[in-house]
Amino acid sequence: MAPRLNCLTGCFGWQPAKLSRCNELATRAWMWAIHLILVIPTAMATFIARNNYLLVERHLQLQQYPYHPKMGLGFYMTYVGGVVLFPWLFVATLLLKKWYGTWTLLYGIVNLALAITIAMAITMQAQFLPASSNGCKDGKAMNWQVVGGHDSLFMLAAKLDRNDANKAEAICKNMVAGWTVASTVAFFQFVLAYISVFFDEREFSLLNPVRPLVWLVIILIGPAFFVHDLIFPRIRLWLSYTKKGVAELRSTKDLQIPPQTQFTPQYQSFEAPKTKLTNVLAIEHVLLNLIGYIHFEDVVNLSRTCRAVREVVYPPQDLDYRVPKLTRHCCSIAEQSKCLYCNNKICGSCQRNPLWPGLSGRRHVMGCKPYCEPCYYKSFARHPRGYKKPCKCHSTDRNNEFQDVCRSCMVKYVNTLQAARHKRYQQEARNIAYKENSECGGCKKVLKDGMRWWKCKKCGGECRDKIHPGFVKRKKERDIEKGDGGNGEQDANASWWTKWRSIL
Ligand SMILES: [Zn+2]
Ligand SMILES: [Zn+2]
Ligand SMILES: [Zn+2]
Ligand SMILES: [Zn+2]
Ligand SMILES: [Zn+2]
Repeated sequence: MAPRLNCLTGCFGWQPAKLSRCNELATRAWMWAIHLILVIPTAMATFIARNNYLLVERHLQLQQYPYHPKMGLGFYMTYVGGVVLFPWLFVATLLLKKWYGTWTLLYGIVNLALAITIAMAITMQAQFLPASSNGCKDGKAMNWQVVGGHDSLFMLAAKLDRNDANKAEAICKNMVAGWTVASTVAFFQFVLAYISVFFDEREFSLLNPVRPLVWLVIILIGPAFFVHDLIFPRIRLWLSYTKKGVAELRSTKDLQIPPQTQFTPQYQSFEAPKTKLTNVLAIEHVLLNLIGYIHFEDVVNLSRTCRAVREVVYPPQDLDYRVPKLTRHCCSIAEQSKCLYCNNKICGSCQRNPLWPGLSGRRHVMGCKPYCEPCYYKSFARHPRGYKKPCKCHSTDRNNEFQDVCRSCMVKYVNTLQAARHKRYQQEARNIAYKENSECGGCKKVLKDGMRWWKCKKCGGECRDKIHPGFVKRKKERDIEKGDGGNGEQDANASWWTKWRSIL
């Protein structure tokens, strides 16, 4: 039994990647088959190369300028290669019956050496021969590589060897035929060398027949894979960082939502009159019973009847308890909802359903989820399987839709209503981003301060809308003792450098 070359399956703790196991008998069968294929072409190539070599040897003029200096060598090497290869095919066929396994590598080395010899020879020949026998036809042989007044190679050979210039075409065709056959031999010899060098059937062997193919694939696809999988995602991540950084610098930190001024009645100059209506409404269960039959809006209108009624419907000292009670009792219990614009309670019979343009902010507030950097890299920058393109849902956000609106909002101007609502959505989106202990939509870990990416719930793509803050740094607890204003105050009139530094 042949010795096993254990070093081929790895050394110093390193092991080549596992490949499929191959069949030793198949290797030998292929070698025998190629030996058989090679016999006749090798004999032909050797015979032709010998004749041509002797032709060049006989005539000194053919070895001199302007003819190719390696002409003789080209034919000679083909001849020597063929002379060694021809008997070797028979010897190797016989040896292979008894000596195989690791010994195949020795055949491989011999085969490779012969293949290289013949390949070098035909490369030399290619420098002074036409590519095909078409290059010899129609007098082309007489004009092939003619240098300043000298005869062509074939012309001179015909004159010197056959004393007939018309034989140039025949000599040319003969040489080209020899070259073609030698090329065929070289091709099969390389295949033979491949099979016999990569002989090892073991899965982990360096000389497993599949190994060169795997390397080839790695060499061809490796760089593209490297760029696609490691370089591009990082570029995307840094581009995203830059864009968000710039957007953050340009954004205004705090939204200008005008504070709601609360009405404070002037009790000093007002004594609530005791009307009969107030006497009745002051009894809470009577009031609530009455409210049970009217809509929320009508409760508000009822309180506007007069100051005295307002005092009993919305008693200032009891507002925190009274308002929820009123809200609970008014409107029909079934199909309750809230007005999209003023947030007041509405029900099926008091709501209106105008066909108005949709509000983009709603989608961001309800659906978009924050992502941390590692999750953004994994789910978006790397373009993994199932990756969705950046969100384009804004194109359908403003489509007309039926909205649930209270009667008071219904009569207001829609653009003003929507602008005010959008501002509230902006504030809500900011609140969501700055919320303590909010979780990453991907890994569910609590998000720290830093860059945020957002994923659209509707389409699954990255939401790049400016409504979401790109960078989140939570305000410090305001320390009044130190006179510390927190980050928020600093933002308002900080220099660009301070802003930039806080992002970095
Ligand atoms: Zn109602
Ligand atoms: Zn409303
Ligand atoms: Zn969004
Ligand atoms: Zn989307
Ligand atoms: Zn995450």
